Amino acid sequence: MLVTEIIRKKRDGDILSKEELEFIVNGYVKGEIPDYQMSAFLMAIYFRGMSKEELVELTMLMAKSGKMVDLSSIEGIKVDKHSSGGIADTTTLVLIPLAASCGVKVAKMSGRGLSHTGGTIDKLESIPGFKTELSEDEFVQAVNKVGAAIVGQSESLVPADKKIYALRDVTCTVESIPLIASSIMSKKIAAGSDKIILDVKFGKGAFMKEYEKAKELANTMVEIGTLAGRETVAYVTDMNQPLGLMIGNALEVIEAIEVLKGKGHEDLKNLCIEFASEMMIMAGVEKEKKLAQERAIESIEKGFALEKFREIIKNQGGNPEIVDNYSLLPQAKYTYELKCDDDMYIKDIDALKLGLCALKLGAGRQRKEDKIDYAVGIQLFGKIGDKIARNMPFAKIYANDEKRLEEAISDVKTAFEFSREPVPKRKVIFAKITKDDVFEF
Ligand code: URA
Repeated sequence: MLVTEIIRKKRDGDILSKEELEFIVNGYVKGEIPDYQMSAFLMAIYFRGMSKEELVELTMLMAKSGKMVDLSSIEGIKVDKHSSGGIADTTTLVLIPLAASCGVKVAKMSGRGLSHTGGTIDKLESIPGFKTELSEDEFVQAVNKVGAAIVGQSESLVPADKKIYALRDVTCTVESIPLIASSIMSKKIAAGSDKIILDVKFGKGAFMKEYEKAKELANTMVEIGTLAGRETVAYVTDMNQPLGLMIGNALEVIEAIEVLKGKGHEDLKNLCIEFASEMMIMAGVEKEKKLAQERAIESIEKGFALEKFREIIKNQGGNPEIVDNYSLLPQAKYTYELKCDDDMYIKDIDALKLGLCALKLGAGRQRKEDKIDYAVGIQLFGKIGDKIARNMPFAKIYANDEKRLEEAISDVKTAFEFSREPVPKRKVIFAKITKDDVFEF
């Protein structure tokens, strides 16, 4: 087979066979095909797209390029969850204990923060002692023992994606729906769960800025999952403003605990209840959505979900006392409150600006080798439509460096817009996509 012929075929919009895709992907992973030819191939996909069949072949080839996790020794239907990334998106930290407390087995492999979006593994590592690296045996044992475990993605998972993603990053081929969908789904399939729930974010703080594009991505991933034999349900949710009220690693752990205690912002809580109930249906733990929702609400009210989070923390070597004593988490040296000088309604919050501000404070990495500052971040006191009373704070900054604090004060100020008139609240869930239907809310 000639690699130039494969590139030419894709350039001209033809459909590639399984053997041709195998030749180019495996050849690239083995180092037999150079970066310049793979770059041309990726650009051809960027412009020409892929058929459903090509996409499934590409996804499965990538998934099988490394270790495929075997979760068969965990009893029951395992459901995984993935978010395309957002600001103040602490969903996983609430959802995993919540779903597990309702009988869903969750073997969760999570990522680190990417650019201005936070990563679950970084957040968990702000808990003293918490181990995010477990061997496959330890991972399986942890899920069998407490019903859930959350670990970092192992290095051997989907090496094809690591190599192709790095090339896409420097060849302007990241923003391609077939390439994003195959990248995400190959990792979900290799991670071994039977079913997958996806949260595809759109808006200012998301990688997908437009709703229609996010819907197309969600639909494509549902098609891939379905054809690969893994039932997949996708939600399209708003990321024009932050989801919760905390941005930063230890701060988001606190927010997750607050939601598990029945407090926290209703948007984050309601999204977690929706996802947990969907996971219960997918896992066959409940048959009716309404009953599943009631069970999730009851699990929070009766403290079962919080107790499950304690168990998960303890089982992975972390200090469970943080649940009752937040001062055991990393603390920032400086704090600063931004206040309203009159009664005001929040009109807009620029999620991207706040995400970048948290990144500059040290909550994320600007370079791969950067160390995270777990204590820093931003706390919000309301979302769009909420009223802030005169002399009350609308945001609080947590910093460990005076110069960075000064910069953050001006960044956070410009991320907010206020109105004297009431402002309608924004909905969070815009669409739910299954293999048979698209529901728009
Ligand atoms: N996240 C991924 O894992 N892959 C992409 O291509 C984009 C976002």
